[in-house]
Order: sequence, then C-alpha cells, then structure tokens
Amino acid sequence: MEKSQLEQALTRLDDAARYLDLDADVLEKLKYPRETTKMRLMVRMDDGSRKSFMAWRCRYDDTRGPTKGGIRFHPQASMDEVETLAFWMTFKCAVMNLPYGGGKGAVQVDPHLLSKAELERLSRAYMQAFANIVGPDRDIPAPDVYTNAMIMGWMADEYASIVGRNSPAVITGKPISLGGSLGRDDATARGGFYLVRHLEKELGVAPGSTVAIQGFGNAGTHMARLMADVGYKVVAVSDSRATLYCPDGLDVEAVLEAKAANRLTSLAGSNGIEALPPDYIVSVPCDVLVPAAMEDLINESNADEVKARVVVELANGPITPEADAILFKKNIVVLPDILANAGGVTVSYYEWVQNRQGFYWTVGEIHQRLKSNMEVEGRAIWNLARDKNISVRSAAYVHALGRLAEAIEAHGTQQ
Ligand code: GLU
Repeated sequence: MEKSQLEQALTRLDDAARYLDLDADVLEKLKYPRETTKMRLMVRMDDGSRKSFMAWRCRYDDTRGPTKGGIRFHPQASMDEVETLAFWMTFKCAVMNLPYGGGKGAVQVDPHLLSKAELERLSRAYMQAFANIVGPDRDIPAPDVYTNAMIMGWMADEYASIVGRNSPAVITGKPISLGGSLGRDDATARGGFYLVRHLEKELGVAPGSTVAIQGFGNAGTHMARLMADVGYKVVAVSDSRATLYCPDGLDVEAVLEAKAANRLTSLAGSNGIEALPPDYIVSVPCDVLVPAAMEDLINESNADEVKARVVVELANGPITPEADAILFKKNIVVLPDILANAGGVTVSYYEWVQNRQGFYWTVGEIHQRLKSNMEVEGRAIWNLARDKNISVRSAAYVHALGRLAEAIEAHGTQQ
C-alpha cells in the first residue's frame, strides 16, 4: 500500500533519531498527531444558497508551547496533508527555538471561485467552528497557501466577538491596523534570503549567481525581489500556468507587474524570454532553485533533472524523501523547509510577542532580529551537518529533535 503523506514525513523523524540517544517515549510522543478536529462549515453564498466545506485544525504536539501554524484554503486540502504540515510546524518551531508546538488548519475550497463576501463568511465560519480550539495560549493560526492578512483580520474580528474582548494574539499575519507586525508580509522569503546570504561561502553562490523560482505567490515574489536587489540573476520564474525563462536574467520588476496584472506569459517572445510548461522550472540550468509552492514538486521521477547546486525550500515539503536521497548523492545542497521557510513563523512569533506586550517594534528591529535568528540556527545546523556528514535536512531534524526530547523529558515521566 502506498504510504500516507504523514508516514512519508515521519521517515525524517526515524532518520534523525539514529543520531541521538533518545528515550523511546520521545518517539512514541512525536509519532502521532495529538488532536485533529474536523468540521463541516456551512456558508451562505451570494445567490442565497448554502454550501458546505470540509475544514480541519490539527494540534500535532504542544510539548514546547501552544501549537502554531497556518490555515490553508485549497481544493486538494485533506486531513493527511493538514497533519503532515502540523508535524513539520512542530519541528520548524523547535528548529528556531520558538516557544511553540506545531499545528495547522485547512479548508477544502478553491478560494478563487468565491466572491469577497463569500470568502469573508467562510473565514468567519472557520473561526466559529474552531474558536474553542484556538487561543493565544493554546493554538495560534496564521496565513498559509491562499490565505492572507485580510482573512486573518476577519478571523481575529470573529474571535473577538465570540469571546467578548479584543484578543489579537490569537492569530498572526493580521493587517497592521489590527495589530499585525511590520515585516510579516515578506518574512518567509526574507528568512530564506538571510540564510542563503549567511551561507554564501559554504554554498559557493554569490550575487551574480543564477536563481529559478517555482511558484509566484507570497514567498516566491518576495524572494525574486530580494535576490535581484542584491545582484542575483533571476533566470526563471513559474506559476501554475507557465515557466518564464531567460538565460540572461529576467527584469524582476517587469515580471512582478505582469504577475500582478495576471498576465505573466505576456512577457514571452521579447528580450529572449521564453514561455515553457510549468514543470520545466525543475530542470532549468541555474545555481539556486527555490520551490515556493506546494508539496512533492521534486520526486523520484524528476529529481535527476535538477541542475541547480543549491535548493532553497520556501515551500513546505517540496521534495519527497526518495528525491532527497537522489539530490544528496548528486551533491546538491538542500536548505530544508523547516529552516529555510521558518522566517514566516518567526515573525509571527514577534507579532504575538508585540500583541501581548502592547508595544510595537520598527521594521528595522524586526529585520535585525530575524536575521540574527536565522543566522544562529542556520549556522548551528550547518555545522552539525558538516561534523556528522549528513544532509542539512537531517541536521535540522536532529537539532529540533534534541530540543523536543529535552522538553518532553522535562514535563515529567509519570504520565
Ligand atoms: N504558514 C507558514 C508556515 O508554514 C507560517 C505559519 C505561522 O506563521 O504560524 O510556516
């Protein structure tokens, strides 16, 4: 039988456990999601009809603190996927030493087919359904694929009316006007960007090196701009419809404008720019490949085609374990999701801290803290990988698992 997504993800846990002298209790605790709630949301459509949508919230593990993780609106969302993403959040928060466990939520919906009013009713329905599960000290949602600050604002508003008081720390990634943090919008990309810059010497890349970006949503667009601004050459970007490729480098500002107007492919045909199928992005000749969309992009069937020397996972789970082994053999360095895209949840943590202290930081302070957190954890993981001669992903899991194990034991052993 084919393995579930969570079973596949758990192979990383077993792999990391080999490098630590762990009590069996630790693995028993981390092998299963602690709590997954499933609800069917009923939402009034603009035409007066009611439609139902499946929704989930998983609190995978809360050993290190309240569970933390985004809410995804996607037509292919499933319980298996939500639990897998929540497992990754558990390790991501431990990698960054944030005082959180891991959680995740989703609604099975294509939000592009909803009007703005329908989207608001759906978002409020989600919060009504899960208001007893979330809370500033219990479970703290945030944006993920196809959700954004506007949606977080509606959910924060709904939560405040349910509990009868303002409670901004229940959710992060909010609009600035509702207690959101400066610097949260580009934080996922920026964290990955700081990490790459910090490890440039070790990775053998530098401004002038070429970059290909798969997925042109929040993470991908910000990464393109950040990398281009310091002189990296963005040679390809892709969305669900096409790959735009130009070996001499794309004009990132023009690409961003075209994307905003929903006409990315209109740039093809001039200035040596080609429009190719979306899958082509995996095999583009480049130094740095940045998957920034969904899971399983690079798998057994296409891992051999990767030409990049470095892969920076801004998406969650874009490389399957089988593909990972192939890339490792080819000496391609993968900066793994639980480290490379942790900038998002790290600035979410700053938002939660600011909400609770009621005192807000400048964007400069946010960037400074993020840079330093990425460098400290990134360096520790890099050195661990080098000393043990293991992949950076394995090292990230070992780094996180050590912290999780310590907390599991500190909670006591008699229950
Ligand atoms: N959805 C983002 C992630 O996968 C951010 C989660 C958060 O900010 O809590 O890391």
